[in-house]
Amino acid sequence: MPSTATDSLTIVNPANGATLARVAADGPRAVRDKYARARAAQPAWGALPQKRRLDAIAAFRAQVVERMDELARTLTLEVGKPIRQSRNELNGLLARLDFFLGATAKALRDEKVHEDAGMEERISHEPLGVVANISAWNYPYFVGSNVFVPALLAGNAVLYKPSEYATLTGQHIADMLHAAGVPLDVFVPVVGGGATGAALLRQPVDGVFFTGSHATGARIAAAAGRAMIKAQLELGGKDPIYVCEDVDVKAAAAAVADGAFYNTGQSCCSVERVYVHASIHDAFLDAFVAEVRGFAIGDPMDEKTYIGAITRRAQVDVLKRQVADAKRKGARVLLGGKPIAGKGNWFAPTVLAHVDHTMSVMRDESFGPIIGIQPVADDDDAVTLMNDTEYGLTAGVYTTDEARARRILAKVDAGSVYWNCCDRVSPRLPWSGVKHSGLGLTLSTYGIQAFTRPKAWHLRSA
Ligand code: NAD
Repeated sequence: MPSTATDSLTIVNPANGATLARVAADGPRAVRDKYARARAAQPAWGALPQKRRLDAIAAFRAQVVERMDELARTLTLEVGKPIRQSRNELNGLLARLDFFLGATAKALRDEKVHEDAGMEERISHEPLGVVANISAWNYPYFVGSNVFVPALLAGNAVLYKPSEYATLTGQHIADMLHAAGVPLDVFVPVVGGGATGAALLRQPVDGVFFTGSHATGARIAAAAGRAMIKAQLELGGKDPIYVCEDVDVKAAAAAVADGAFYNTGQSCCSVERVYVHASIHDAFLDAFVAEVRGFAIGDPMDEKTYIGAITRRAQVDVLKRQVADAKRKGARVLLGGKPIAGKGNWFAPTVLAHVDHTMSVMRDESFGPIIGIQPVADDDDAVTLMNDTEYGLTAGVYTTDEARARRILAKVDAGSVYWNCCDRVSPRLPWSGVKHSGLGLTLSTYGIQAFTRPKAWHLRSA
């Protein structure tokens, strides 16, 4: 686990506790200097023809392709993500870069919205200026690139603080962007933990783009409110799936188990609650447990591994507390239920039945390989339970009936909704949360324009 001292970080492999590196962290003075450099460098970057910025991101993409194996290894070593899933993340990054490279020119084009009797009205998209990108560790390439790529393309300078749990990956990102032609003072890594992030927000930045927990997000929102700057917050979730009685039970169980346990359950859009129509509940539980029993747990560097380490040690305690609370209130542990002994941070894939909404496991973000499965009487019951949460990131339904799926999903309060799929993000669609899942959005053309300020031009020619 990284130490929280403000002057250095110790990077530890969560799979075995070995120290990987010691890295200098930025204190308040270093953060101030980096901010000043970024402020000075931004106007020239913003004034470049857009093509130059697109070329730099295309060159960054080429670096990712060239260094793929090394990048995947570093990611797996520092966050405990299974190596195949690290490569999947990097391939997903390439697809996001392709989207941004293809969509930016159109999204940021000046627009004439009116012309009449010598009066022309236009909208241009101006960069915000210097933005802070404070990031999470669980998908550092995804959650980082959703922000720094469109921010740079729109002409901003970016002060990028990777999570203290993904510092080495953050350094790779900075090295690749600089090698690709983004000036050192335009993309500036800021290294450290929460204290460094707080110091960054004491600088007069023009916007803060945050990915992380609701608790930290609330602090960021307060700081941004005082400074009167734009804040975007991509926060946690307690994402539900409803499985209707008309599905192929085995196939649905396999798909939902993958949605719950991929990335060792450490995804903002992991399936965190499952509701199953009572008529297939027992058959679904059997199929689900059989599926999870087959997941390979082990060395994240092993190509066969599907369940890796828990990145943050503190999360193991959260999972232990959720299991104990659920058992005390009547839940049955069908599989797992405890940490795996040995070096590093591990928790056995856990399936809980006989759960209800009095239990923390059905209310609070678990962010680990654990799931509660609850029967429901009908669609109305399912919708009521799906919406009974402080969060609203994603929600999904499995059914063979599209009209029924659309009816249910229309009533669900979430940023993204899924029919017969889950744990899915598309660069073409906006990524956002409602309630405690966040504010603002990334991805899609809206997520490119989010890094600009629309400027209104009133032009009278006569
Ligand atoms: P976290 O809130 O602990 O940390 C996030 C970032 O904030 C880190 O870089 C951290 O150093 C920094 N930070 C901590 N305290 C700060 C402060 N006072 N001021 C400024 N910065 C501060 O979250 P995490 O553990 O890195 O990430 C896990 C959380 O992120 C989960 O809740 C997950 O659901 C959420 N998440 C959301 C999305 C999404 O798209 N909605 C994506 C990935 C992760």
